[in-house]
Amino acid sequence: MSYLHHLECSVCGGNFDPAILQTFCQNCQAPLLARYDLEQAQTGIDRDEISRRPKGMWRWREILPVFAQENMLFLGEGDTPLLRLYASGTELGLTQLYVKDESINPTGTFKARGLAAAVSKAKELGVTKVIIPTAGNAGGAMAAYAARGGMQAHIFMPADTPHANQYESQIVGAAIELVDGLISDAAKLAREKAATEGWFDVSTFKEPYRTEGKKIMGYELAEQFGWTLPDVIIYPTGGGTGLVGMWKAFNEMEALGWLESSHRPRLVAVQAAGCAPIIKAFEDGAKSSEFWNGAQTVAAGLRVPKSFADKIILDDLRASHGAAVAVSDEQLLAAQRFLASREGIFAAPEGAATLAGLMQLKEKGWVRPDERIVLFNTGTGLKYISAE
Ligand SMILES: *Cc1c(COP(=O)(O)O)cnc(C)c1O
Ligand SMILES: [Zn+2]
Repeated sequence: MSYLHHLECSVCGGNFDPAILQTFCQNCQAPLLARYDLEQAQTGIDRDEISRRPKGMWRWREILPVFAQENMLFLGEGDTPLLRLYASGTELGLTQLYVKDESINPTGTFKARGLAAAVSKAKELGVTKVIIPTAGNAGGAMAAYAARGGMQAHIFMPADTPHANQYESQIVGAAIELVDGLISDAAKLAREKAATEGWFDVSTFKEPYRTEGKKIMGYELAEQFGWTLPDVIIYPTGGGTGLVGMWKAFNEMEALGWLESSHRPRLVAVQAAGCAPIIKAFEDGAKSSEFWNGAQTVAAGLRVPKSFADKIILDDLRASHGAAVAVSDEQLLAAQRFLASREGIFAAPEGAATLAGLMQLKEKGWVRPDERIVLFNTGTGLKYISAE
């Protein structure tokens, strides 16, 4: 069913066996990426047949890592709408503005895609206990898929993580521990517990498959645009799984011969000004990012002081002739109100940040009025309403 062939280190190119549980390349301290036998897949699968299958992420199973259907944990993730933003576009002077609205995913964010893939594959490889450090939404998603798969879940999250993330994790049965600090502090605790008690750590890019789930956003976009790609994709970047995943998807689709044109989108990473390690590295012309001290933003999902995949993110941004933009909390909250009032879309602050970023790029003349531009609304604003 799956054409998964091997895993490859993103730095040294070394090969790893996907038949056993893998984490990352210990030599390079770098992520592993899943490689498929795309030559076989090209003759074995039909793009248009996949389009006719029942909706959901797993209709792309041949280019996802899970082999047995019974291990494909499904809660309705994927096939999110691509919405044209007529009113906002007119107001901003952009004729082809879209949002890929990921807020309708299970658990209310696109984290469902990545965790569906990672938890499913872990289950297939015999894992019964999964653990994660989280800025919030990844933990909620992991907990849901673990419950679905009859697995135990343990979550470390900063004490100031949105309440919804604590509730959603607990009600599906996860054990949660609140940490005084950031996701980087939570990560250290998760790593220790994983090492001493045999939990499997599904931290961003510390295992190869979350980015596989997220890459399907790239396949869906191509399909939704009639097997062409837009001119610009604007993505709120924390760990960068979706950015890296989508660029990977475009490479795979090209190898599969699925794209009607070789035209590639320019990728834009948006981060919050209070935590913008990727933006700084991009502007400095650096190959990797530096740990961002004192990270602070209301967009909890963007509070990632250093991504484990920073080198890949920066490579992909540059390969795409893209850009990197920092927006203040004030700007992203204003963009959230703008999108809500013009379109009826109550975006997560992270998703709204993409609109704030676009406003800056428009002002600088970096986007042309007639370009096809896609914003990623990565979650629903409802998850951020506080209980107090
Ligand atoms: C995690 C998260 C992000 C960042 O996603 P990455 O793929 O890790 O860069 C953006 N928005 C929301 C709502 C998130 O939960
Ligand atoms: Zn390596």
